[in-house]
Amino acid sequence: MISLFKERRQKLTRFKSMQQKPDRPKASVPAGLYTHCPDCNQDFISEQVAANFFVCPGCGYHLRLTAHGRIKLIADKGSVRELNAGLTTRENLDFPGYSEKLAALEASTGLKEAVVTGVCTIEGHSAMIGVMDSRFMMGSMGSVVGEKITRAVEYATKRRLPVIIFTASGGARMQEGIVSLMQMAKTSNALARHSQAGLLYISCLTHPTTGGVTASFASLGDIIIAEPRALIGFAGPRVIEQTIRQKLPEGFQRSEFLLEHGFIDMIVERHKLKSTLGSLLRLHSPSARVKGGG
Ligand SMILES: [Zn+2]
Repeated sequence: MISLFKERRQKLTRFKSMQQKPDRPKASVPAGLYTHCPDCNQDFISEQVAANFFVCPGCGYHLRLTAHGRIKLIADKGSVRELNAGLTTRENLDFPGYSEKLAALEASTGLKEAVVTGVCTIEGHSAMIGVMDSRFMMGSMGSVVGEKITRAVEYATKRRLPVIIFTASGGARMQEGIVSLMQMAKTSNALARHSQAGLLYISCLTHPTTGGVTASFASLGDIIIAEPRALIGFAGPRVIEQTIRQKLPEGFQRSEFLLEHGFIDMIVERHKLKSTLGSLLRLHSPSARVKGGG
């Protein structure tokens, strides 16, 4: 009995200490007993959050997912074959501390770069999938992210596969200077060739998608989906306000505002994402075209 009380007290102490840390890192990798929601500021039992697709049971906020966590929710079990997993960044500008940072992130996340690409099936339909991970250098696009996405799209073009990319990015990677900006043109060109081949590209924007990624492959989808309340934009609101000298409307860089203004096609809640993608792939599959007579 005493041990039961002790256990309960430990849980409460832990719960309190979690509440007292408003500025601790966002719940990107829900681990441990409780998961904190940065939106409604409440803590929930992690198992409950995981069973709810990592969506806050209290307010519906979509917590950040790791790349592999996202793939697990989207791809059919056992269908994923990762491509170019070993590609790593070769330092080219001698940016101070860059290589050390990459090494530390590789150790803490188990990822070699900010995007995971591979082929999989979604509800039985084959697709090329690319998923960014914001834990790795804020999901910024350096030479390897650009190269992996380009290779993935080229692979899909060759094998006539649809492409689905989940973005989560702070934009171009400043440590790689102009090389990171070049990735915008490179990825866009690969997608243009994929499009010219008559193939489908679905872009899924997740929180946050900004900068050079918004300005390149994130916005080029034949169909652009966003998760609810995701921050999507190019520059931050302060920079825009200073440039145009106008007050910006509330929530202007959120999914809901962008849908209203025609920037995206639909907002899909996470628990419906796999079935939505499955339906879109089915509707655009070659067999559906034959059946439809077009
Ligand atoms: Zn919440």
